[in-house]
Amino acid sequence: MAALLTFEEALREILARVRPLPAETVRLATAAGRVLATDVTAAVDLPPFPSSAMDGFAVRADDTPGRLPVVERIAAGRPATRPLAAGQAMAIATGGVVPEGADAVVPIERVVEDDGAIEIAARLEHGEHVRPRGGDLAAGDLVVRAGAFVRAAELGALAAAGVDAVSCARRPSAAVVSTGTELRLPGESLEPGQIFEANGVMLAAALASAGAVVTPPESVSDDEAAHRAALERGLSADVLVTSGGVSVGPHDLVRTIEAELGVEEVFWKVAVKPGKPVSFGVRDGTLVFGLPGNPVSSLVCFELFVRPALRALQGAREPGPAFAPGELAASVRRNPERDEFLRARLRSGGDRVLLEPLTGQESHMIARAAAADALVLAPRGEGELGPGTTVRYLALR
Ligand code: AMP
Ligand code: MG
Repeated sequence: MAALLTFEEALREILARVRPLPAETVRLATAAGRVLATDVTAAVDLPPFPSSAMDGFAVRADDTPGRLPVVERIAAGRPATRPLAAGQAMAIATGGVVPEGADAVVPIERVVEDDGAIEIAARLEHGEHVRPRGGDLAAGDLVVRAGAFVRAAELGALAAAGVDAVSCARRPSAAVVSTGTELRLPGESLEPGQIFEANGVMLAAALASAGAVVTPPESVSDDEAAHRAALERGLSADVLVTSGGVSVGPHDLVRTIEAELGVEEVFWKVAVKPGKPVSFGVRDGTLVFGLPGNPVSSLVCFELFVRPALRALQGAREPGPAFAPGELAASVRRNPERDEFLRARLRSGGDRVLLEPLTGQESHMIARAAAADALVLAPRGEGELGPGTTVRYLALR
């Protein structure tokens, strides 16, 4: 039997089949969480004029120390009506335009004001408390690169630079189908042998967090006709994610029905734990992920395969998964054949990140997994990884 794909190989197979979605123009107010399709440059210098960093008085540094008459009062948005002449001061608010002729601002706390004049005791430096025009960015400079996610800070930068609309990849549409005759929705009552359906809401939320527009999840019993109908509907999305029904049991119907519906399977089974039976295929433009039913397996496979695919679909420069280095806080037994992703808690250990594997690492233990901050990669191999071993982890959000 051929060796199973490693998760890196499986991810390469997926990313090789991603065709980034076309871009559309998006008002800035609705661009949060989306990926920029083009570089965005500043429309203006930032700041657009030399501005005061403090509430105080605009002066010439060469006139200090000394006593200077206050000839005008400048507010933010209300520049002075004339240049500052030698031997003068103008009161200025934070964000006010530093008048022509002035080259420093003395903070209000450092002067004594009386009879329309200020007394400055110490010498000011040229440029003190003045934010030069273009000190953050010059007009035409790059504000945010193509392929970057628009987070709150990017939104602020784009708005400050005068950008009111950006070009972003269309949001991917996504469908979720959970399979299993044993599944009941929370709120229903459980008959013997039944469990509550956990993966639908979980995967829908994960998809949404990765930028997708998700249709309400469907849940189907292990019945061919029910599978066919739900999968056909799901195949109209950019991404179809199923849970369960991809193992080798007689009730595992997902791959068979998908093949009937024209899904070309790219791989089935990957050397990961949990998540080994994961499948991936394509039909026309749709990426089709078959995640195993155990909720932790679904969660791990989502982070390893589905989230990066969604990021790539949106044109992200770095689709991930974004591993970071950390240090094991306890020893971990390795799996000889499969890379294992352990649920762990993050602890800060001075300048290091410590990773504490949780007790209860079985793939059905979603409640235990909910206490985790991270998935720790224990690479396949013999023996144990001792405490203090540097490993890579994936932050869970
Ligand atoms: P399967 O991958 O269909 O063989 O399912 C593996 C295990 O996960 C079985 O114990 C299922 O009952 C359970 N399971 C499958 N789907 C779900 C789901 N949506 N929510 C919770 N547990 C599930
Ligand atoms: Mg099942």
